[in-house]
Amino acid sequence: MIDSKYKKKLDDLLSVCRKNLRSVDEDLITRAFTLSLEAHKNNLRASGEPYFLHPYEVAMVVAKEIALDDVSIASALLHDVVEDTDFELKDIRAEFGDAIADIVDGATKITDIFESHEVTQAESYRKLLLSMVNDIRVILIKFADRLHNMRTLEYLPPEKRLRLAKETLDIYAPFAHRFGLAQIKWELEDLSFKHLHVQEYEKIARQLRSKRREREHYINRFVQPIKKGLIDAGLTFEVTGRPKHIFSIYNKMLKRNKPLEEIYDLFAVRIILDTKDNSDCFIAYSIVTELYKPIPERFKDYISVPKKNGYQSIHTTVIGPDGRMVEVQIRTKAMHDIAERGVAAHWIYKESNASFDKDLESWTNWVREIFEQKNDQTPKELLESFKLNLYQDEIYVFTPKGDLKILPRSSTPIDFAFEIHSNVGYHCIGAKVNGRIVPLNTALRSGDQVEIISSKNQTPNQDWEQFAITHKAKSHIRRFFREESRKKSDEGRETWEKKVKRRKISISSEEFDKFVHALKFNDAQEFYLAIANQNIDVDTLVEQYVVRLKHPAAEDAEHVPDTDTLFTKFINTARDITSGISVLGMNDNFMHQYAKCCNPIPGDDIIGFVTTGEGIKIHRKDCKNIISLRLAESARIVDVGWPSANEADFMTGIHIGGEDRPALLSDITHAISTYQNTNIRSVNMDSRDSLFDGKVILYVKDTDHLTRIMEKIKRIPGIQSVERFSG
Ligand code: MN
Repeated sequence: MIDSKYKKKLDDLLSVCRKNLRSVDEDLITRAFTLSLEAHKNNLRASGEPYFLHPYEVAMVVAKEIALDDVSIASALLHDVVEDTDFELKDIRAEFGDAIADIVDGATKITDIFESHEVTQAESYRKLLLSMVNDIRVILIKFADRLHNMRTLEYLPPEKRLRLAKETLDIYAPFAHRFGLAQIKWELEDLSFKHLHVQEYEKIARQLRSKRREREHYINRFVQPIKKGLIDAGLTFEVTGRPKHIFSIYNKMLKRNKPLEEIYDLFAVRIILDTKDNSDCFIAYSIVTELYKPIPERFKDYISVPKKNGYQSIHTTVIGPDGRMVEVQIRTKAMHDIAERGVAAHWIYKESNASFDKDLESWTNWVREIFEQKNDQTPKELLESFKLNLYQDEIYVFTPKGDLKILPRSSTPIDFAFEIHSNVGYHCIGAKVNGRIVPLNTALRSGDQVEIISSKNQTPNQDWEQFAITHKAKSHIRRFFREESRKKSDEGRETWEKKVKRRKISISSEEFDKFVHALKFNDAQEFYLAIANQNIDVDTLVEQYVVRLKHPAAEDAEHVPDTDTLFTKFINTARDITSGISVLGMNDNFMHQYAKCCNPIPGDDIIGFVTTGEGIKIHRKDCKNIISLRLAESARIVDVGWPSANEADFMTGIHIGGEDRPALLSDITHAISTYQNTNIRSVNMDSRDSLFDGKVILYVKDTDHLTRIMEKIKRIPGIQSVERFSG
């Protein structure tokens, strides 16, 4: 049970909620209150007070000054529970649901970022905050949290005090201004100023205090006739002497290079009309200016043309009694609430006043870049889905030293590495994110601290171009591979030229170009590259070149002798089994034969060559002879594919070499036949010295089947080589 001291606090909070919110889930707030009290029961603040008073006061700030909804007040009560107590996020989620858990999580993460990095680039940090949260309530609670921490700053050690004050002035105050939270902004500024410039603050505050009575007297004198005029016009209103904020006075003194007296002598009065009719503001304006002479160039109509952040008011300066200048602001109550409470006030007015929709519209024009708007929802639902999306396509990550790097969303450590320096990128071998090694294709997230591990010997990998998001990284990687392939193709050219020279062939550049194009290479560099990568066989090419020179019409270049009659015999049987080869893009079966040079079996990548009289000849795509066939006539090359899901077995041969020993043959046959009852058609073994050389013909389902058997054989002791048998 809550003891009486805290019971009173709960009642206070609930009554503020009832006053400021349209609807309150009192049970929700009571449960959040109770859990927070329990969770923090052993913690104390720097001031020596029970820690619970902090989340309580933060919730009070939210309820009083940013009153949005009960969810944000409950979240405020719970905002430090995960960070500072034994309770975990999952406990909050189980007890309070996703919305509150996500807000608490967001608030905790923001705290972590600020704890671990020096604040050096305020605007970037503001963006960082915005990119990290998708619920505006996270930020509103951070404002309230910071406000209470600033109010109790004197209990902290001086160093921390200055850091927090500077951070508040650099980030939180301008941020609050952007959200239209003028009241909070001013208080944050004054509190920061108080700690950053102790003497100036005291001096201004002292002078303000000493002249207070005289000021109040003058303002009363100025205001009396205005009040009477407004009453006569039948208006309901409130007139206040506008409080001057110490930090803004200080800034004006600096900017205008004038002493405090002159700045401060500018009196300021605010008239707030209780009306829904904006034109009443102009009636009030005319009443004021009939009494006191206005200075025309100081007139500003922010009602007809609101400021970017939605601010509306009339500003004017008039000459009051004794010839002193007085600033007058005139606005409606709704305008005032928005001026003071910004985004929070908008939702309250949205429901109570339909004509406010138009103002809301102009407001949303401004915040559209920040907020994703969904209409035809109740304000409650609208708020639930009130997601921030500004800066969501950027992420903010840190170097190990805490420097901030801004990258596009989905960037990986590769992008980060090239962002630091091209040499870091080129030699990157791995990355640590928040101290843990991650794959290089890991998508980074805002707030991550990234460390690149590099090695002099490392060079970019082909995959990197797919991982990279930034133009910088992509272009560096491409440049690297362009350079690499240029070097490679130089090697290929040397190989080619050496061979050609040895054969004493002279080639004109025209002939060479024709030759390269006949081989389906785009240019000579691609051709040389294929040679360097050993994708094509130089000797065969030179041979073909000679043939081409001698017999320009050479047609079928397939002159591969049948070297193994046994194999040929069996392969012929396989042809009977295999039927239903399909030519891509054609449905009919067609006459076909298998090339003897490469003996394709199902699973191989294959290609077809249209022969005269023998149908289509099927080759493996990597068959060296296909180069010759392409050369002869590329139009006769067709894409072909295997029939799918063919259960029939195919015959193939494997060539096995190794040290001869007793029982080797039985080990091999055992290895084959125990794998899925594979059938062996024949075995041929030669033994010379202590080496053996064997050929096994067997039936397999597909290449996968064959590969597995070959792997099994490789593991037999004494076996040195196992190869697919072709030709
Ligand atoms: Mn806190």
